[in-house]
Amino acid sequence: MAKVVKKVHGPYTRKDGREHVVIVYTDLTKRTVSYPKYLVEQKLGRELDPKLETIDHIDGNPLNNDLSNLQVIPLREHTSLDSQYVADECREVTVACVYCGTSFTRFYKYLKDAGTRGTAGPFCSRKCSGQYGAAVQNSVQEKLPSTEKPEVRYTTRKKQLLEQGKTRLSEPTVVLADKT
Ligand SMILES: [Zn+2]
Repeated sequence: MAKVVKKVHGPYTRKDGREHVVIVYTDLTKRTVSYPKYLVEQKLGRELDPKLETIDHIDGNPLNNDLSNLQVIPLREHTSLDSQYVADECREVTVACVYCGTSFTRFYKYLKDAGTRGTAGPFCSRKCSGQYGAAVQNSVQEKLPSTEKPEVRYTTRKKQLLEQGKTRLSEPTVVLADKT
């Protein structure tokens, strides 16, 4: 038999900014749920199945509890997106040309590979790397150290997908907001 809600306390804000509510039923049992989950359950008129369903913040911001930013997705999928950390190799890193000092951007992976190979650099252009090579050959320039590897940055699989421009990562089990 479905429980009848007597009162809802909250939302209360936790230290990390996330909110939750405490639902008190007429039989005086209590249930604490995250505020976004509460909002979705209100919208759906039923409780979510904690073993199968969970709330996903579409934009990756756990504090944006606007209904249009919430979707119900299978629990397993959510866990894999949010708890999977991957080395962030897609990002661009701003570096300075070791020859002329100009700043420019290079992909993380490019810098990492150059560092692994022991290649001097980075150079902003072919012109700079050419001039450097010629100067070394003519002994007017000492060999420069190999390209410095950028710091590895880890990001969740979800964030990475969002950065790649994927706005909706999974098909929601239930569509909450009407598309306008
Ligand atoms: Zn340069």
